[in-house]
Amino acid sequence: MSLVVQKFGGTSVADVDRIRHVAGVVAATRAAGHELVVVVSAMAGETNRLLALARQAARTPDDRESDVLVATGEQVTAALLALTLQDTGVDARSFLGHQIRIETDSAFSRARIVRVDVDRLRRALGAGTVAVVAGFQGVDGEGSITTLGRGGSDTSAVALAAALGADTCEIYTDVDGVYTSDPRIVPQARKLDRIAYDEMLELASLGAKVLQIRSVEFAKRYRVPVHVRSTFSGAPGTWVVEEDSRMEEVSVAGVAYDRDEAKLTILRVPDRPGVAARLFGPIARANIVVDMIIQNASADGTTDLTFTVARGDYAKARALVDETARQIGAQGVTGQTDVAKVSVVGIGMRTHAGIAARMFEVLGAEGINVQMISTSEIKVSVVVDEKYTELAVRALHDAFIGGPRP
Ligand code: ASP
Ligand code: MG
Repeated sequence: MSLVVQKFGGTSVADVDRIRHVAGVVAATRAAGHELVVVVSAMAGETNRLLALARQAARTPDDRESDVLVATGEQVTAALLALTLQDTGVDARSFLGHQIRIETDSAFSRARIVRVDVDRLRRALGAGTVAVVAGFQGVDGEGSITTLGRGGSDTSAVALAAALGADTCEIYTDVDGVYTSDPRIVPQARKLDRIAYDEMLELASLGAKVLQIRSVEFAKRYRVPVHVRSTFSGAPGTWVVEEDSRMEEVSVAGVAYDRDEAKLTILRVPDRPGVAARLFGPIARANIVVDMIIQNASADGTTDLTFTVARGDYAKARALVDETARQIGAQGVTGQTDVAKVSVVGIGMRTHAGIAARMFEVLGAEGINVQMISTSEIKVSVVVDEKYTELAVRALHDAFIGGPRP
């Protein structure tokens, strides 16, 4: 007998019929003798619908109240799944974040889990009950409801699996696994049987939407084997696990892209100590995540500084940077919101030289200009004009992973 955490995403619980199908999957797992915690997302589209309601109620909705509102999506599906399971003769009971006690910090709408108390879940499991948990939500030290950021039910599931010492965490979704690239753009993309935590972390942070990045961080830290698979096909999906030597044989495991990018350049910044801190301090305090940064000093004692942020943060970042640029006597600020980031990822890069050079060659041959570059041990990312996103992704997939298979 093993302990399994299963998480079902929004499309898997989109209506009562699908919830009945999910109940079937859960019942089969339970019948096989496993102890079972099931984490659910809100019905597909529900979180967006609730956020839109908040925006109708207030011009700038308060984060705390917005969390109270959006957390209801998962409360609905947890109750419906528990009801459906009971109706099919499976002993089940629903739990909200605060009832279990998934404790988070107070960063509403993007809270981080700080502690998980699993006593209550253990008691339910011990009694043979399937515990159905509302994903995405937690409670802060004051007792306020928090949510974990979009896609946060993945993190609820992996965090519970870690806290319970579960044998596996199954993430059921509407795709059958993790692909070498987005199949909507690259028809030759193929499903990976296994992928290393570090590769998945990069892919998730680079725009692959299949798992929330924090869930992968949890999985890696607590070594939770994660199985991403389809709710509807029952076929084996992709295992996200610790790396092994076979994975290193391929230089590139995946090609990712992210259109959610914007670029800002501060022109002719006086080149002296403390200036970068003056520029980035206010941005950090506004909770805006800066991704790539390039600084280019010129002979006249000034430097141009370019960096990227998520597109949704552009206006805010721009206002802050305009202000600081004036204060420090920079020449001006320019920005571009139609850029995208394209990346190749693979732990094999540690041992295969020349991936970056080959990447620039491939992009150059397609006439795509590289605007910014950043590298890590296992990835190379470039910023390009957004209109070249598809072309770049396809060309790189062809070059590194392979085109059409015979
Ligand atoms: N319902 C939340 C969202 O749409 C959380 C999740 O589905 O994982 O982002
Ligand atoms: Mg998701």
